[in-house]
Amino acid sequence: MNVRRLIPTTALAGAVALGLVTLSACGGTSASGKEDGKLDVVASFYPMQFLAERIGGDHVSVTTLTKPGVEPHDLELKPKQIGELGEADYILYLKGIQPAVDDAIKQAGVKNTVDAGTLTELEKHGTATDGHAHEGEGHGQDEHGGEHDAHAGEEAGADPHIWLDPVKYTEVAKGVGASLEKADPDNAAAYRKNTDELVKKLDALHGKFERGLRNTRTKTFITTHSAFGYLAERYGLDQEGISGVDPESEPSPARIKELQDTAKKDDVTTVFFETLASDKTAKTLARDTGLGTDVLDPLEGITDRSRGADYIEVMEANLAALQKALGAK
Ligand SMILES: [Zn+2]
Repeated sequence: MNVRRLIPTTALAGAVALGLVTLSACGGTSASGKEDGKLDVVASFYPMQFLAERIGGDHVSVTTLTKPGVEPHDLELKPKQIGELGEADYILYLKGIQPAVDDAIKQAGVKNTVDAGTLTELEKHGTATDGHAHEGEGHGQDEHGGEHDAHAGEEAGADPHIWLDPVKYTEVAKGVGASLEKADPDNAAAYRKNTDELVKKLDALHGKFERGLRNTRTKTFITTHSAFGYLAERYGLDQEGISGVDPESEPSPARIKELQDTAKKDDVTTVFFETLASDKTAKTLARDTGLGTDVLDPLEGITDRSRGADYIEVMEANLAALQKALGAK
């Protein structure tokens, strides 16, 4: 520092003391040092945004990379968005669901970067990379058999749709709360309180799912993209995905035949589709099989067409749809 050579030591000491005073006053309001005193949080897509907003409350300003109504899996970021990433105080994302976002976040090198997948345990649900999440059944004869083997050793095989299981989402919420406390210790008490409140709501939601799906005529549901593997496992249901975790992939004729057989055997009433992706295949399958259709929302984004204003409301709508389709008693 060349200042040292230009001014007397006493003056330097004074300046340093002044600097410290200013610094601690700043630190008292925010860890970010930004004008509004809020922690700048970037969330990758809606389920991360919901956690950041609920837990961060008044102390955070949340930007979401995936705009409402955009199907998140294949999202490409604009150069401006990539540039802004590096200025964030805290990034919350879920690795494995949006490859382009994963790369940009890695490049951004922000210290407080949290991968929600590390806050709970990820599982593989059958063929999470390419195919249909039907676990534990012998589908060796289907034409995707070779592809399954090709993907077998890949880490990417873990199913990223953890937020659709309220129990796993609760674990993630707790982890997010703890990491926000660490990133912004001055507001730790508020983050803790907000986390506790959210966890109570998620516990209540889990209770509703448990009670609501305990007694049903059938346990099998057909859905467009295999987002509900964790939910199915939690509540003892059987998810039959038309396409894989990528909602845009087309099912093979063999898979369609298989689904038609399953529908008959398991007394399935409904083919579920979702709001953000194409419903063409679901509707064709339903028509050919004489089944009804309904919405089961993977909550990858909230729009005007969503059956609720937030995660909790849409999950309650999902529960109602499942109960109806499965013949809950
Ligand atoms: Zn998905």
